[in-house]
Amino acid sequence: MRRNTPQQPTKDYESWGRYPKVTPSRVIPIDWRDELPDFASLSTSVLPYAYGRSYGDSCLNERGILLDVTGLRRFIAFDEQSGVLRCEAGVRLDDILNLVVPQGWFLPVSPGTKFVSVGGAIANDIHGKNHHHGGTWGRHVLRFELVRSSGERIICSAKEHTDLYQATIGGLGLTGLITWAEIQLKPIASAFIDEEQIRFESLDEFMQLAQESVDDYEYTVAWIDCFVDQGRYIRGHFMRGNHDIAPDRPESAATRGLPLAVPLNLPSGLLNSLTVRAFNTLYYNRQRARQVRKTIHYDPFFYPLDAIHGWNKIYGRNGFLQYQCVVPIDNDNAAIKEILSRIRRSGEGSFLTVFKTFGDVPSPGMLSFPRPGVTLALDFAFRGESTLGLLNDLDTVVRASGGAVYPAKDARMSGEDFRAFFPRWREFTAYIDPCFSSSFARRVSSEETPT
Ligand SMILES: Cc1cc2nc3c(=O)[nH]c(=O)nc-3n(C[C@H](O)[C@H](O)[C@H](O)COP(=O)(O)OP(=O)(O)OC[C@H]3O[C@@H](n4cnc5c(N)ncnc54)[C@H](O)[C@@H]3O)c2cc1C
Repeated sequence: MRRNTPQQPTKDYESWGRYPKVTPSRVIPIDWRDELPDFASLSTSVLPYAYGRSYGDSCLNERGILLDVTGLRRFIAFDEQSGVLRCEAGVRLDDILNLVVPQGWFLPVSPGTKFVSVGGAIANDIHGKNHHHGGTWGRHVLRFELVRSSGERIICSAKEHTDLYQATIGGLGLTGLITWAEIQLKPIASAFIDEEQIRFESLDEFMQLAQESVDDYEYTVAWIDCFVDQGRYIRGHFMRGNHDIAPDRPESAATRGLPLAVPLNLPSGLLNSLTVRAFNTLYYNRQRARQVRKTIHYDPFFYPLDAIHGWNKIYGRNGFLQYQCVVPIDNDNAAIKEILSRIRRSGEGSFLTVFKTFGDVPSPGMLSFPRPGVTLALDFAFRGESTLGLLNDLDTVVRASGGAVYPAKDARMSGEDFRAFFPRWREFTAYIDPCFSSSFARRVSSEETPT
């Protein structure tokens, strides 16, 4: 078989939420960065696809071509002194960790899974538990190569082709193909994290913990149960941590956590409000003491869900939607209270709801999602109109507050809402490559009225 030959899909090119279910016309594997197809000669639009860890349709291209970039998985250079890593765009974050942690370096930003590519991390300008200190992934991208359908290879950085650099960071794969990138890593003394877990009983208590942890803790996040009585809004476990500065400890399977697997599609009805409430109560009560301190390996601290391979299958064949929004923090937190109340009243919603605050470190991307405020991420089993209706309802609250919904997790927001959440969209459209498109991009731009 010739390199870069179009193929009928042999694996499922779906997104993590498994909704919507769409099929590309074909898939072109990209294995070598100097042997790329002539995008302009192809019959339909193209979109890079890496590991499909985006939940909705931003990594899908219905009836278009997907460029499977997972063959671009080579390291190019690593300077142990400065912590600058150059690698191909299909390299996964776990590949990087395996290489650099033993040499005293770490990712500048870690999302909730390490099975994400460097190119995908740039295209969604991902964030992690240290947003209030480190900002987004894009801030640590020194430069990258972008290949346009004209065949041009453009080196983008904060100083070279700055406009394309800013458009591509958070640019949802629409500005061209990133072939390699150079990342500034951060130094660490050990592979371990000093972690504290604190049980809290209400939204007010969460806000206080978040506020008092900003300066002294690099990483903060909370798991919340939003099915508690109205006056408290939430309860949960607040986790905060810093890299351990003690001499390194031996790693073992036990300190890393053992992998489990969800082998089959579970029945769609298995997760209902009763099972979710029961799980939340059990999870909340797993820690009896108000505050627990421990030193744990970075793996279970950052990536607890990665230990359960294929956990997205627990929502059954219909799949699920993740909803992640950010709303500004104000004195009475009216917007987040309204969102939590609507979710509670709906009886829908998930276990493992994640809640955290974003800081005010600016993102370099034109369409970057993070902005100062509180962010909520939760899963909804897809139940058709009732689920879509609820999420549309939440969008109106987010929009009225001046917040935003995260495209990497979205499969249904309206174009009007998207353009309100991302006011630089119009400016961004000038940088979209004419041969690149996605199901997401077509959806959010389809109702645009010409100006
Ligand atoms: C369990 C879990 C936890 C998560 N936690 C977080 C979190 O904490 N914070 C956060 O921000 N996100 C989080 N995410 C979302 C995830 O980090 C992003 O969706 C990420 O972009 C997925 O990367 P991927 O390599 O799988 O790319 P894909 O999902 O395959 O593609 C994502 C986008 O990147 C584009 N793309 C991919 N490769 C290239 C390339 N070489 N050139 C140009 N464009 C490219 C695609 O076209 C697409 O638009 C989480 C996802 C999961 C499943």
